[in-house]
Amino acid sequence: MEKIEKIYEGKAKTLYTTSDPDLIVQHFKDEATAFDGKKKGTIEQKGVLNNKISTRIFKYLESKGVKTHFVEMLNDREMLVKKLRIIPVEVVVRNIVAGSLSKRLAIEEGAVLKEPVLELFYKSDPLGDPMINRCHAMVFGFATAEELDQMEATALKVNKILSAFFDERGIILVDYKLEFGVHKGEVLLGDEITPDGCRLWDKQTHEKMDKDRFRRDLGKVEEAYQEVLKKVMS
Ligand code: UDP
Repeated sequence: MEKIEKIYEGKAKTLYTTSDPDLIVQHFKDEATAFDGKKKGTIEQKGVLNNKISTRIFKYLESKGVKTHFVEMLNDREMLVKKLRIIPVEVVVRNIVAGSLSKRLAIEEGAVLKEPVLELFYKSDPLGDPMINRCHAMVFGFATAEELDQMEATALKVNKILSAFFDERGIILVDYKLEFGVHKGEVLLGDEITPDGCRLWDKQTHEKMDKDRFRRDLGKVEEAYQEVLKKVMS
């Protein structure tokens, strides 16, 4: 499937139309940003690694009955996906306290949550993706009650599937962000599932294997992503 026209360029990905109006090409870049774009850099080979990691995870989720936008991997940096009307609500799923939750409630990073915690954020670059709740999402028309129900149910299902998947491979799935969109009237999981948007810790050492290595200047960022790819392919 050939790329025709660039329709969106984001921080880590570029999207292109194809000859099929229902399908688009998602191209993964090496650029990395953090702290609402205030920190910028490049992680060598990140685009290739994330394309492969996300492909593996989307295929695995599909095999377990989760409907995603994934169609096929096209080459090292590109996958073909179904065109979505993106729902502007990000769903964060947390199994362990880290990042903004740790700061917001002053709870030590690493505390194990007795149930997964779901959080909603309004997808808006100018506002820095503020946290919202179901009422905000519905009243301001970001998503319908039915869409939110489906997104939350899918997020919890994905959490069960991926927590076990990573655990079997020696990795703790700490937290991650999911995005959804509507394709032909159906809510599908979209975007990507990669170490850019997931916190992944080594089960034995609790060493970080995700974008926190870039955010916090911990070094060995590419190596960590390589290790994640190796483990998810096993
Ligand atoms: N996350 C993301 N994109 C965002 C915000 C968060 O991919 O715009 C991911 C992040 O990588 C982490 C999880 O969602 O795995 C929870 O992030 P958190 O709210 O703790 O924010 P952060 O500490 O990254 O600012």
